[in-house]
Amino acid sequence: MNFQEIWSAQKEFFNSQKTKNINFRKRQLKTLKEVILKNENLLYEAIYNDFGKSRFDTFTTEISFVLNDIDYYLKNLNSLAKPKRVSTNLANLPGSSKIYAEPLGNTLVIGAWNYPYQLSLSPMVAAMAAGNTCILKPSEVAQNSMKAMAKIINENFPKEYLFVAEGGVEEITEILKLKFDKIFFTGSPKIGKIVYEAAAKNLTPVTLELGGKSPVIVTSSANLKVAAKRIVWGKFLNAGQTCVAPDYILVDEKIKDSLIDLLKSYLKKFNYLPDSEHYTKIINQQNFNRLVQMITPEKVFFGGNHDSEKRFIEPTILHDVNWNDAIMQEEIFGPILPVLTFQNFNEALQTVADHEKPLSAYLFSGNAEEKKHFTEKISFGGGCINDVVMHLSNSNLPFGGVGNSGIGNYHGKAGFQTFSHQKSVLSRANWGETDFKYPPYSEKKLSWIKSVL
Ligand code: NAD
Repeated sequence: MNFQEIWSAQKEFFNSQKTKNINFRKRQLKTLKEVILKNENLLYEAIYNDFGKSRFDTFTTEISFVLNDIDYYLKNLNSLAKPKRVSTNLANLPGSSKIYAEPLGNTLVIGAWNYPYQLSLSPMVAAMAAGNTCILKPSEVAQNSMKAMAKIINENFPKEYLFVAEGGVEEITEILKLKFDKIFFTGSPKIGKIVYEAAAKNLTPVTLELGGKSPVIVTSSANLKVAAKRIVWGKFLNAGQTCVAPDYILVDEKIKDSLIDLLKSYLKKFNYLPDSEHYTKIINQQNFNRLVQMITPEKVFFGGNHDSEKRFIEPTILHDVNWNDAIMQEEIFGPILPVLTFQNFNEALQTVADHEKPLSAYLFSGNAEEKKHFTEKISFGGGCINDVVMHLSNSNLPFGGVGNSGIGNYHGKAGFQTFSHQKSVLSRANWGETDFKYPPYSEKKLSWIKSVL
């Protein structure tokens, strides 16, 4: 595939000004919605073939996400794109000041495999809403999903506007040599650094949606039943292959036994079996092997069974874990949940602060002071109090990481802004001007300028 050719065609198309037209953007978003709905079965089938993801999970965590994004932009595009008038300072009167949301131009979106549709199509939808062209490179790890997206986009949109590039490291390395106006990357911090470096060569702005170890703190004031139920759901959704999944639990040692008993009872109730429709497979053998090695048999409180042929790992709870254990050295990204304890709440916050800033953090607590300290004292991309994962379902909340977990954010208004440049324009009248700013200068002019500025 000649990526240079597609990039040039997109550059020319953007320069034609067509993508800036609001009706054009809305028409394309509507077409994309129709294309997704028409090909829903193809999308379900492809992702099922990649890692056994059910229609229910695919609809709730992938398709509906993208459709909601499209609806959000169709409803809000006029107001998002409308120039915003701001007040004008005295020195520039008479005049008016406006901020224009200008599309950045030719964009590149690089997706991750774990939510292949959502993580590729949602940023692309935001790029379209903001009036850009887009080359989308989904992850080759979810091969079938990548091919399905390439088919439905490339068959229904002109390549000079949207194009899905198939391929792996070799192809993306080629693509990254081109000069884009924006690169939006979702993936690991390790590859994020490679993308950031490539972007730096062209001073291309980036959004990096990365990962990390997201903690869940459970204090003695928490409603433990609610905590256990929500943690089990959020952790084992997609078999733990979720960037915002709870990575580990930090629980007050006084209530640790009660919490893990409750976690176990919900795990039994939710019945995650090798052939359960609601339980996803591990994406590939390499990740399966990596995860199995993290299960230290003597620390297993629940689960630990696995089946290599089915790429099934039973939801597993490890206890008596400490920071020297292998499982605490990297993001888990699978269905293993280590439980660590703390003696006082400040110690738990300090533990989080002592490690890389996580993409998400969660607190289960009934105590107002604890909630305040959790929100104010530690840095993390985003999170929930008394829930997990769900913050990303609210499109009014910008979604993104901080520090090692990412740069920038998206969803809803934030997504539109991520793919726009805020262009400030001051428009002056040709009358009503004093000569004070023009030479020759004098003490009188200086004292006037001092009073005005
Ligand atoms: P990854 O970093 O291995 O791959 C991401 C993308 O980078 C893929 O499209 C891949 O083709 C591409 N890539 C691979 N090697 C490359 C290279 N040398 N140069 C340029 N691009 C390259 O990540 P993954 O395994 O797909 O996803 C897992 C990671 O992503 C986890 O760390 C997870 O937390 C993170 N993640 C973050 C979010 C988020 O929204 N913040 C969402 C999902 C996953």
